[in-house]
Amino acid sequence: MICFTFKKRQTRNKAILALLTLCLAPRVTHTLRPTVAVIGGGIAGLSCAEKLSQQYYDVTVFDTGRLRAGGRCASRWPGDQPKEGDRSHHPFLSQYRFDHAAQAISVPPSFYAFQNQVKEWESRGVLRQFAKGSIYQIGSAQPPTPLSSDHPLYFAPDGINAIAMDLIANRKFTLQQDVWVSPSNGVKWIDKSQKWRVQAKGEVRGNFDYLIIAHNGKCADRLMSSSPAKEIHSLLRVNFAPTVPANGGNRMTLGSIYSLSVCVKSPSILSKALPDNFVAGFISENSNLGFLVCQNRKLAQSDTTHEVWTILSTPKFAKRHKAPQEFMPEETIEEVSLLLIASLGDLFDIAPESLLSEVVDRRLQLWGAAIPMNVWRSKDGAFLYDCEHKVGVCGDWLLEPSIAGAWTSGRQLADFMVDAKGDLKKNVGLPGQFVRSTRSQRLGITTASRDPASSKA
Ligand SMILES: Cc1cc2nc3c(=O)[nH]c(=O)nc-3n(C[C@H](O)[C@H](O)[C@H](O)COP(=O)(O)OP(=O)(O)OC[C@H]3O[C@@H](n4cnc5c(N)ncnc54)[C@H](O)[C@@H]3O)c2cc1C
Repeated sequence: MICFTFKKRQTRNKAILALLTLCLAPRVTHTLRPTVAVIGGGIAGLSCAEKLSQQYYDVTVFDTGRLRAGGRCASRWPGDQPKEGDRSHHPFLSQYRFDHAAQAISVPPSFYAFQNQVKEWESRGVLRQFAKGSIYQIGSAQPPTPLSSDHPLYFAPDGINAIAMDLIANRKFTLQQDVWVSPSNGVKWIDKSQKWRVQAKGEVRGNFDYLIIAHNGKCADRLMSSSPAKEIHSLLRVNFAPTVPANGGNRMTLGSIYSLSVCVKSPSILSKALPDNFVAGFISENSNLGFLVCQNRKLAQSDTTHEVWTILSTPKFAKRHKAPQEFMPEETIEEVSLLLIASLGDLFDIAPESLLSEVVDRRLQLWGAAIPMNVWRSKDGAFLYDCEHKVGVCGDWLLEPSIAGAWTSGRQLADFMVDAKGDLKKNVGLPGQFVRSTRSQRLGITTASRDPASSKA
């Protein structure tokens, strides 16, 4: 009898315990969030992914960046390893920090959301304002003069790539880095499931509800060429030229830029020829040179025995000396580097041989798809969206060719998708026209006042 009661109690206790375990156990919830593949981890793709993944979407970003994501917001940091098989060794430059594409950030007055982002970056020390009077205008006729502007320009003390790193620091999205989504078969619209299949390095990376194209140039053009999203593809078709007609032309047009970084012993002839507070200068009326910056005066460096200067060419110069970006022939590297150094000598009345004799290391890079010479203007947003095929597009060419433009375009696309909560039933940005971008003349850095076309940003 006692035994029977004991057994009964034991069974009851077991049942209570099982019930309690069930109630208290961490619940595995399968929240099926809509999935998004973002192809391109530049500032546009990252700003879009950051916002989308904070609210409602499950996002994966694919980016080719070998060392880091960020695209044209690119910096070299001490200790960066060269590409496998790359025999070009940079014993001096590899010890310094330098930005070899975008150099500075401006905040157009009407870009309110980007203004807040910049303020936030500034408050955390990711960005800092250039000292007043340290950015110059360099013409051919008169000595360099400080650029007069009411709008501050910003730099990232750790290198401009720091803003991309910040966008991915606390990410809620997946980043697949050093992954090139091949234009020939990288994305495929599966009609039956109404999803986009993304494939890279010979394997399927997933089937996604939405596809976002966050890059431009030949790659994006080819990637979408056989997709059913024909209208999107027609806008991604691209020309390469250093100018566009006054009416903006009828196709996206990208200009190329050479970036030459040189390492010279400090103090150099160049730094002696320039004002003490000179950090960077826009070069005008020069067919070869567009911008000059002293990376030592701009960025935090641990070694100061040498100076690193970066010279950016004009798009016209890059067009005249066109070469394959990935496999630049040695003769082109030599010819272009010497021409840029000689042009700098001419500009400051320094014998090119003297400048050259101080160079202990140099690195030339061609940015083939550097700067959109025209931008797409539509009445309803700085991005594209095709609701039938669930594909969005963001990037600098949809607003203005700058970091501000790229960030804002990505963010506007994300806002649109977040507001719709997966119920995206309208096309955006598809009627519109290309207009000539005046800002491309200044690498996207504008000191101009309100641009009516960007007032919605
Ligand atoms: C030399 C130079 C100087 C500049 N100076 C300034 C400046 O001082 N200030 C300023 O505001 N702006 C400047 N700009 C412009 C600015 O850098 C760009 O407007 C901005 O960074 C563009 O961002 P994005 O995200 O639109 O494109 P991107 O930065 O081009 O990002 C696209 C990303 O997609 C990746 N990608 C491409 N194809 C694939 C694929 N198939 N699979 C996976 N990933 C892919 C690319 O590798 C890249 O990382 C400069 C640009 C250049 C080239």
